[in-house]
Amino acid sequence: MTDADDLRRRTAELLAAHPPAITGRLEFLRARFDAGLAWVHFPRGLGGLDAPRSLQAVVDAELEAAGAPGNDPGRIGIGLGMAAPTILRFGADEQKQRFLRPLWTGEEVWCQLFSEPGAGSDLAALATRAVREDGGEAGSGGDWIVDGQKVWTSSAHLARWAILIARTDPGVPKHRGISYFVCDMTDPGVEVRPLRQITGEAEFNEVFLTGVRIPDAHRLGAVGEGWKVAQTTLMNERVAIGGARMPREGGMIGVAAADWRARPELRTHDLHQRLLKLWVEAEVARLTGERLRQQMTKGQPGPEGSGMKLAFARLAQEISGWEVEFLAEDGLTYDDWTMRRPDGVDFTGREAGYRYLRAKGNSIEGGTSEVLLNIVAERVLGLPPEPRTDKDVAWKDLPR
Ligand SMILES: Cc1cc2nc3c(=O)[nH]c(=O)nc-3n(C[C@H](O)[C@H](O)[C@H](O)COP(=O)(O)OP(=O)(O)OC[C@H]3O[C@@H](n4cnc5c(N)ncnc54)[C@H](O)[C@@H]3O)c2cc1C
Repeated sequence: MTDADDLRRRTAELLAAHPPAITGRLEFLRARFDAGLAWVHFPRGLGGLDAPRSLQAVVDAELEAAGAPGNDPGRIGIGLGMAAPTILRFGADEQKQRFLRPLWTGEEVWCQLFSEPGAGSDLAALATRAVREDGGEAGSGGDWIVDGQKVWTSSAHLARWAILIARTDPGVPKHRGISYFVCDMTDPGVEVRPLRQITGEAEFNEVFLTGVRIPDAHRLGAVGEGWKVAQTTLMNERVAIGGARMPREGGMIGVAAADWRARPELRTHDLHQRLLKLWVEAEVARLTGERLRQQMTKGQPGPEGSGMKLAFARLAQEISGWEVEFLAEDGLTYDDWTMRRPDGVDFTGREAGYRYLRAKGNSIEGGTSEVLLNIVAERVLGLPPEPRTDKDVAWKDLPR
């Protein structure tokens, strides 16, 4: 049985065998994965020890205190938060062995090819097609040829692999004709073009897929069951965005509190009251995240993750708005409008103006707040669902 003491012992052994001061970053991360200390709740042999997820904090604290290098979650967040749990749940053994280690160490960056110009909130309406080259049945081993356009693809310019959903059967209702693939972003048919955001940066992209060849061995889940696989990705995405583990006064509220302490000349009674209210709400959200992680010790996140992400987006926007107001003229300046291609996603980076603008995306990415409210209404509160008229109509017959 792996408990906290056992994890401390294993961490000490790792540090003794690979002292961070004289070990290369990648070498250390690979050794950490092989020791089962990457994500302790994953199975043995895949970076984990089948331990309770809550014990990861024990390992992280020991490694941080020893100055060990991290795997830069801001750069590889889509791999860690979305691709990995999906591969773990639906992947074949060879897929898990091939993809999970370089994903966790950051040697291979992942992106998510889900949204399309005509399919965002209504993701199941997607039109990207995947056709079996030999026209054969699943298991016949032929490659899939993929054509279509994806949009808002974060980190596509950095990615080696993508999780991709595409339509494999237009003749059945939209949720049923989708399959889920791992797409090689270095395939010659993949074209990535930058899309500039409100911040001036191009963190995301549009991605054109023309005759992209995907081996059947890179399919996750059964043909036509991609929607079910995608649900695992989406549920985990909401937790990854809204439920990241952080210390008290971490994240956006930490930045605002630091401003408050550093600039006494800007303080007013009203701003003080509002900051305190936001601080309490941020702490409640943080503790709710802890509780959610404990509920998720085994298994996948449910609709509670949508509630977390809703709270996160609202707070990020309110706190960053407070910060811009508090900093007065300094809050209105902007450091640099150069179109950058950032090396990852950073919600609290740069300066107040950047944080304020970047937070606008928080209520859109990973499901808009309106759509998440629908999910909470239907699946948590049990309210009547939205009317759905296209549930039993073949995708090819839907008006577009
Ligand atoms: C910063 C950022 C990063 C992103 N990264 C990725 C990525 O890496 N990969 C990827 O695939 N996608 C990504 N997205 C796309 C994101 O998932 C979509 O933008 C989102 O799902 C909304 O889809 P849409 O933009 O097509 O808007 P639409 O679905 O067209 O929505 C427009 C408006 O209508 C509202 N609306 C729609 N349906 C309903 C409904 N049923 N009830 C109430 N209101 C409704 C929405 O809330 C919204 O206000 C990213 C988006 C952002 C902002």
